[in-house]
Amino acid sequence: MSGIRPTGFLHLGNYFGALRNYIRMQDEYECFFMVADLHSLTTHPDTKELKSNVQHVLSENIACGLDPDKVALYCQSHIYETSELYLYLNMLAYKGELEKTTTFKDKVRSQPENVNAGLLTYPVLQTADILLHRASLVPVGKDQEQHLEMSRTFTKRFNHRYGNVFPEPKAFNYGSELVRVPALDGSGKMSKSENQFATLYLSDDDELIRKKVIKAKTDTGPLAPGSSKPEAIGNIFLLLKLVSDPSVINKFETDYNNGSIRYGDMKKQLAEDMIKFITPIRQKAEAIRNDENYLKKVMEKGAEKARKSAKATMELVRQAMGLNY
Ligand code: ATP
Ligand code: MG
Repeated sequence: MSGIRPTGFLHLGNYFGALRNYIRMQDEYECFFMVADLHSLTTHPDTKELKSNVQHVLSENIACGLDPDKVALYCQSHIYETSELYLYLNMLAYKGELEKTTTFKDKVRSQPENVNAGLLTYPVLQTADILLHRASLVPVGKDQEQHLEMSRTFTKRFNHRYGNVFPEPKAFNYGSELVRVPALDGSGKMSKSENQFATLYLSDDDELIRKKVIKAKTDTGPLAPGSSKPEAIGNIFLLLKLVSDPSVINKFETDYNNGSIRYGDMKKQLAEDMIKFITPIRQKAEAIRNDENYLKKVMEKGAEKARKSAKATMELVRQAMGLNY
């Protein structure tokens, strides 16, 4: 089970941190993937663009290879049971631990005018989404690691107090560790709602990709042959590894190690390889997005599957909690 907020266009971080795993998991597990529209209200209270953003996320998910016939692909707000479980779990989450969450502290700094209770209890809502399907694997990027730790804590607390209803959910990635795709200017991670000029979106056209990549932060070159890579350079290599051929990566590694590397050339190569990766996804997503009827059907079908699973879980929950009189 996992979700993506409809706060803008999807980017490489969403793809390599989350979606790439979804696509592989759909053939191996029973999967629930949702557009987390309720979560987006914690930071984006204006709902004017919500519908079109939901359509964006859905069409980009499908364009990347997610098959709505294989998984439950749905919209969070369509499943009312989420709110019920969220309420119960809120009684098991303490103010102190919620206030210590890194993402909460970041948002207090970035939106001091709107430090709402939904923001504080964001990890509780996320736990409700997961537990609603009694899911055990949650494919997410590195930025979600702390939230998943909190989900495990809330789950253990529930099971301890009311009986063993839920498996303990784990952050999941097919590789050896969770992925974090850095922003091109080295100022944090790629993101839908921040760092927009330093983020490569799956909707960016070729020229925009070239412009953004060429501006990526570099320095004057290795100080001495064989010296270790500063963070900004390491980030470019990391991006290259996501989309380029091993032979290309080897060439630039060798050039770096013998001090002959030209960052301009490396960025040009990176831009072209990014274009090759992004263009087909962008074109597919555009075509899907234009078919509103199809997207509505996808959402309805997804909600039906998710509701069925949610209803079954909530019966267990009410019974375990003694709310069955
Ligand atoms: P927002 O800025 O609105 O929070 P976001 O880009 O952080 O958007 P989310 O909807 O919060 O995206 O997260 C969706 C999924 O993408 C999560 O699993 C998250 O861990 C993953 N993700 C987001 N950014 C990155 C990144 N830069 N690298 C790896 N994974 C990422
Ligand atoms: Mg986020």
